[in-house]
Amino acid sequence: MSDKKDIKSMPFELLTTELAERGYPKFRASQLYRWMHKDLVDSYEEMTNLPKKMKEELQTAYDFTKIRMIDRQISQLDGTQKFLFAMPDNSLVESVFMKYKFGNSVCISSQVGCRMGCRFCASTLDGLSRNLLPAEMLEQIYAIHRITGEKISHVVVMGTGEPLDNYDNLVTFLHMLTDENGQNLSMRNITVSTCGIVPRIYDLAKEDLSITLALSLHAPTDEKRRQIMPIAETYSIRELMDACRYYFDTTGRRITFEYSLIANVNDTEEEARDLWTLAKSVGAHINLIPVNPVKERGYQQPQMTAVRAFKEKLEKQGINVSIRRVLGRDIDGACGQLRHRHLTEDGSVD
Ligand code: SAH
Repeated sequence: MSDKKDIKSMPFELLTTELAERGYPKFRASQLYRWMHKDLVDSYEEMTNLPKKMKEELQTAYDFTKIRMIDRQISQLDGTQKFLFAMPDNSLVESVFMKYKFGNSVCISSQVGCRMGCRFCASTLDGLSRNLLPAEMLEQIYAIHRITGEKISHVVVMGTGEPLDNYDNLVTFLHMLTDENGQNLSMRNITVSTCGIVPRIYDLAKEDLSITLALSLHAPTDEKRRQIMPIAETYSIRELMDACRYYFDTTGRRITFEYSLIANVNDTEEEARDLWTLAKSVGAHINLIPVNPVKERGYQQPQMTAVRAFKEKLEKQGINVSIRRVLGRDIDGACGQLRHRHLTEDGSVD
């Protein structure tokens, strides 16, 4: 990657300061920010109200992140669209567009690959290459808007990567996506999903953001969790629950527990009961997801009847449970599958 700063990764305040140091007044920063983050143009040529000299100066001084679409799959079942994008250095990243009753949602990746090693997940099969810049996260949303022409009201950071392993860029991204000079998305319409990096959950609680935090729990005991998620070797469920309670008390925002049901691994009645106890202790909602089988992994989905039984067991105890609607099963639905397929079939993107 180039060693220049990326102009599209600068929050409004920072952009204003950078331009002030070059002698440009604040209204120029407003104009530029709007072109990049509200009008979503992807070249200086289109920024018609900026002086030519200023544009040339900025073009030389800074990087200007652009991403390219490499592949697009559209589900015939439900209109879900999956995109494969190449970053400026040709790193590949996956994003998904989903239609819901409440609006359109985009699921973005936060890293190129992932180093968390969850056993059921395709995103981690090729390891971590690097963190994504704020602009590379934003551009996934912008590009999908440009390509589909659809308005995007919700964003979930649930694609490839561990967002809290790319903490500073994630927080900058959240501020930029919700900036009134840009897309002005509501914080309440953004969900960040983590495998549970405890110190960063405390940090995030202190940022004073009203996003939804989702915790990928997937097992209610340390022993079971360690079998499927290496991060559980570092942080115990007890430490995680303390962090969740702190998050809820500080932000007033309920946490969601993500629980991927895997046949014969984490789907017993006893596990439903233990999960209920944990959710109750921190006031969490539960999102059940029948595991998406990844051929390299060999885990199976429980029968739908078993999924419903697990759900009923929790609901009988008064816990708010939803089964995540399964979207895009016909288009490599699971996280990281499209990218992994491209990497293994053909490493290059040109
Ligand atoms: N690293 C973050 C976000 C990316 S994964 C996290 O761990 O939360 C987004 C969600 O999809 C997580 O809950 C993850 O555990 C889940 N997931 C990954 N692979 C899956 C699969 N094959 N089937 C079902 N859920 C899966």
